Amino acid sequence: MYFFMISVIVGLLAGCNSIHDRGNYWVDDSHAALGNEPRVNFLIFHYTAEDEANSLTVLTGENVSVHYLINPLPDKVSGKPIVLQLVPEDRRAWHAGASFWRGRMNLNDTSVGIELVNPGYHKVGTERRWEPYTEAQIALLMALSDDIIKRNQIKPENVLGHSDISPQRKVDPGPLFPWQKLAQAGIGAWPDAERVSHYLSIRQLENTTDIAALQNNLNRYGYQISLSGVLDDETRRVVKAFQMHFRQANYSGMPDAETLAILDALLEKYRS
Ligand SMILES: [Zn+2]
Repeated sequence: MYFFMISVIVGLLAGCNSIHDRGNYWVDDSHAALGNEPRVNFLIFHYTAEDEANSLTVLTGENVSVHYLINPLPDKVSGKPIVLQLVPEDRRAWHAGASFWRGRMNLNDTSVGIELVNPGYHKVGTERRWEPYTEAQIALLMALSDDIIKRNQIKPENVLGHSDISPQRKVDPGPLFPWQKLAQAGIGAWPDAERVSHYLSIRQLENTTDIAALQNNLNRYGYQISLSGVLDDETRRVVKAFQMHFRQANYSGMPDAETLAILDALLEKYRS
């Protein structure tokens, strides 16, 4: 009789969708809380600065890792490209290091990382020559990013490059990364052209750049920067990271009127 009762209870529990068997105990998930949010808030892009073989060796070792790796010419099955997943999205990968965005630090905890196999740049004299990404690589990156963003409800302004979250020590994914093309497909932030023109007409009337205000605006948008009021090396590197993302025609690190206007338009769109 006792065993009969037990088997009836177990049968009833197993038949109920909200009761799950975890070996030595049951879980009842029928009381779902309203207060919750996705654990992943950021999508971070990188280049590996290594060839295909070395990228895979380094990123599957014990020191650094990333969720996804995209080769320049991805293999295909049934006409569809293959992305290499090295770490499950619900686990922490070690791709961001010391990092910051809009008050959050150590973004490994809350991000998904994608590495593109790309050599970065080589130096010719003092000039950096950057290597372009392949079309196939970017097409796969866009399909993958769109999926990650939708599943995790990642905000456009939280789709970032390594250089945005670690501007003092990183320059990847570099000035040839197609941020505008991605934004046109709904991936990441981009300012509206008319609003940039509007702010540019105002900024061009200013004789000098208020560096304290610039630093404050960069920080409001998300960057980690000291509010020193001085155009020091730290500030130039942050301005350069911003320009590599939003004004790739000139990423000298000098805060000109157009740079300020783009930042104004982004703040209006994403931070007001
Ligand atoms: Zn990186």
